[in-house]
Amino acid sequence: MIVAEADRSFYDRVLQATPEGERLRLCLECGNCSGICPFGYLMAYPPSRMIAMLRADRFDKLLEADSIWMCVSCYACTAACPSKIPLTPGLMASIKEELVLAGNVPNELQNALTNSQRYGNPLGESPRKRADWANRIAPEVKIMGKFKQPVDVLWFVGDYASYHPRVQSTTRALARILNALGVDFGILGPDESSDGDSQRLAGEHGLFEMLADKNGKAFGKYKFNQIITTDPHAYNAIKNEYPKLGISYPIQHYTEFLAERLDQIKPMLKRESKAKVTYHDPCYLGRANGVFDPPRALIKAIPGVTLAEMLHNHTNSLCCGGGGGGMWLDGFQWEKAHVRLSEWRVREALDTKADILAVACPYETPRFEDAAKTVEGAAQLKVKDIAELLLEAMGI
Ligand code: SF4
Ligand code: SF4
Repeated sequence: MIVAEADRSFYDRVLQATPEGERLRLCLECGNCSGICPFGYLMAYPPSRMIAMLRADRFDKLLEADSIWMCVSCYACTAACPSKIPLTPGLMASIKEELVLAGNVPNELQNALTNSQRYGNPLGESPRKRADWANRIAPEVKIMGKFKQPVDVLWFVGDYASYHPRVQSTTRALARILNALGVDFGILGPDESSDGDSQRLAGEHGLFEMLADKNGKAFGKYKFNQIITTDPHAYNAIKNEYPKLGISYPIQHYTEFLAERLDQIKPMLKRESKAKVTYHDPCYLGRANGVFDPPRALIKAIPGVTLAEMLHNHTNSLCCGGGGGGMWLDGFQWEKAHVRLSEWRVREALDTKADILAVACPYETPRFEDAAKTVEGAAQLKVKDIAELLLEAMGI
């Protein structure tokens, strides 16, 4: 009886805490969500079974299972639901939150959450080093706190684009492109904190709010007309979640920003390429936010390039496995699955006979490069961010 009351209060909490949470009541038990989930076959309770358990007042069973940590917040279930139930940001995040409160969190995820709280980024890097990637860029990248002047565009660089050694080369590529286009831009540098979106989807809503508040205060210190970001997770947070906390700024992903300037960019793309390129839609750019065409327009603008679609593309794209805390659950998920989602994706890229797997998210370059090392026949497949492809075509 006590359990049943707790169940009901949890069910009510999910219904109330989630935008459109009331839609959970509309579940048809069709199973689409569980069927499309890339790791649904490994979950003790994939989404449709979770709802069935909640309806049966068996929330206690959900808390006993740790297989919800196989959820990489890829949004596939949400996109496939005929009742338009916000499963990824609602039910899944709420149950993860309960597990976080109960201390049922894999160690590697806990470390990333602790780092985010302590250092403002999940990698545990010093905030003072956040702009180190820009050290050798000319003209100098403006760090807002140092230059103290208004800029047209504030570039929210993001965690992995700032710190990860492989991704820093992509970040430098984009800085060079912005300079070549004459964009008046600046970065927050040490004032920037993690966007917090993956932490939110991993069940740490309080941490998300703390990080959003820090970024909101940093935005408020400076004058700019719009924000761009390299990171689809930051894009999702600033576009859809920060406004709920009273932090509202116009934001574009860098592929949208550049695609709007294609008339200026096209004459600069002087180096022809004979490459066949396939493009991976990042979950939080494509499926969650509907940005499918701008990245493809940029790839197609490169002279000589042909674009080949993978079997799963656009809304039906496969996740790289890094979202919603997946970046910090590789060990846990490997133990359960003995397969990586990034390897599935690399196999699909190989099926297109592409030379290059193009990406537009800082999580993806290292994940797919690692996967290409283990997938048979993938040694020749190059993984490049669209910014790197454009810079090469510009010959800068
Ligand atoms: S968000 Fe993705 S991984 Fe998580 S339950 Fe839905 S389909 Fe599965
Ligand atoms: S796809 Fe939607 S309606 Fe169908 S079982 Fe899942 S939550 Fe219920």
